[in-house]
Amino acid sequence: MSMVSTRGVLLRAHPYSESSRVLRFLTEDHGVVGVMARGIRKSPQGRGLDLFGEVALVLYMKPGRELQTLAEVSPLRPRRGLGSHPLRLACAGVLAELVLRHHGEAPSHELFQVLGEGLDRLESVPEDEVVGTLLAQGWGLVSTLGFHPQVEACVVCGRSLSTDEVGRFDFDAGGIRCSGCAEGLAGPRIGPGARGQLRGLLRGEIPPDLMRSRAHLQLLSDFGMHHVSGSRPLEAFRIVAAFLPEPTTVSDA
Ligand SMILES: [Zn+2]
Repeated sequence: MSMVSTRGVLLRAHPYSESSRVLRFLTEDHGVVGVMARGIRKSPQGRGLDLFGEVALVLYMKPGRELQTLAEVSPLRPRRGLGSHPLRLACAGVLAELVLRHHGEAPSHELFQVLGEGLDRLESVPEDEVVGTLLAQGWGLVSTLGFHPQVEACVVCGRSLSTDEVGRFDFDAGGIRCSGCAEGLAGPRIGPGARGQLRGLLRGEIPPDLMRSRAHLQLLSDFGMHHVSGSRPLEAFRIVAAFLPEPTTVSDA
C-alpha cells in the first residue's frame, strides 16, 4: 500500500452507510479511481466535495483493490455554478458518464484536462450555449478516448463527400458513408449542413446556427454507446434530452 497525492474530479458519489460514501474520481495520475470515504458525510472535509468539482486528493492506494482509501481531500475548483441550472448539471453528467463507462484504465493527463475544460465551459457559458458546449466538449472527449469519428471522407470507399451530398452515419465503422455506400444502411442521414456543424463541433466550436440539437445529441449518444460504453445505453443523455425540443433527424439541418 502506498500513499499518493493527485488531483481528481468527482464523477459520482453514493452513500455507503450513515457516515460514509463511495466516490468515483477521474484522477490526473491514476485514471478512474473508486474510493471509500469513511466518515465523510459527517466531516468538514465532506463539505468541500462537490459533484464535478476538482479536488486535491491524498489516497492510500493498493493495486488491484476495488476501492482505495481516502486520506485527505481539499477543494480546488468546486464548480458550484454547474448547480445554477439543472441543464448545466445534466450536461456535466454526460461528460462524467462517458468517462465512467469507458473501460480504458490507462491514466491520461489529456483526458483529465479535456474533462476539466468541458466542465469549466459548461459552468460559465451563457445558458443558450450550454447544449452546444456539451456537444463540442462531448465529441472532444470521445475523440480523446480514441474514437474520433470520420466525417470528411466515406468510411467505406474513402471518397471525399461532395458539398451537397447526403450520406448516412455508420456507427460500427465510426463515421459517415457516402451516398453510394449508404444504400441499405439504417444509420441516420447526414446532409451537408449537419456534416458542417459536426465538423465545427469536432473542432470545439459551437456552430452559431446549431439546429436540431436533440438530433445532434442522439448522434453523440449513439456513437458513445457504440464505441465508449460497450453498447450499454448512456443514461445521462436521456436526462439532457428531456430539456430539448422534440426529436427530428439531423439530415436536413
Ligand atoms: Zn463510399
